[in-house]
Amino acid sequence: MRICRFQTNDAIPRWGIIASDDAIVEISTSGKISGDCLPDPIPLNSVRLLAPCLPSKIVCVGLNYRDHAKEMGKDLPEEPIIFLKPPTSVAGPNDFVILPNMSEHVDYEAELALVVGKIAKNIRAEDAKDYILGYTCLNDVTARDLQLRDVQYTRAKGFDSFCPIGPWIETALDTSSLKIFTRINGIERQYGNTSQLIFSPIELLSFVSKIMTLLPGDVIATGTPAGVGSLSDGDLVEVEIESIGILQNIVRRG
Ligand code: MG
Repeated sequence: MRICRFQTNDAIPRWGIIASDDAIVEISTSGKISGDCLPDPIPLNSVRLLAPCLPSKIVCVGLNYRDHAKEMGKDLPEEPIIFLKPPTSVAGPNDFVILPNMSEHVDYEAELALVVGKIAKNIRAEDAKDYILGYTCLNDVTARDLQLRDVQYTRAKGFDSFCPIGPWIETALDTSSLKIFTRINGIERQYGNTSQLIFSPIELLSFVSKIMTLLPGDVIATGTPAGVGSLSDGDLVEVEIESIGILQNIVRRG
């Protein structure tokens, strides 16, 4: 099942299920179909898709692909290296990614993101699957020059619009071997496979839940493969993950 958030002409955010390649069915916030009978499908091309969840925090993992650690000249981590992006960094499908004037070098990072389904604290890895609602695409946009200049990542990772998420949450997904891509203006720039992950989504949820309580809608971004590169004003950036879909955004200078 694919869960989305969307707006129609009235601009009210609604929840929906992707019913076919070109239609959404609205659901209530409890996940039920609204009303007594099945509502009419809404054409997908008539709505604006929104970020498919409202996280209280986005927990990101650095250096979680063997090949990316190598390209950054770093040793493989013995435990996950985590940092936070603020909820205000979230952008939806087709929203602008704004290049801040403070940075000369902003990179894309294609990432598989898990979305938390229920309150999770001190969860064992063997139980973690029950706390994952599903998976989506995430672009961990990074001001690389500021990341290298600062001691920690808050500024480099935290600008508004630096966390596109979407286009929807896929709830039935085996993440053990999924192709993951970034394309810029239609040209493939980054390619990886989740089989290269050092720490699996389940291990990450368990690890993070022993540090901070995870709330429904919270996101854990599982890291990016090799091939990160920079974004320029006017670029169309696409993050695609096999069996989920394509997250597309336009880059603009702020
Ligand atoms: Mg990242």
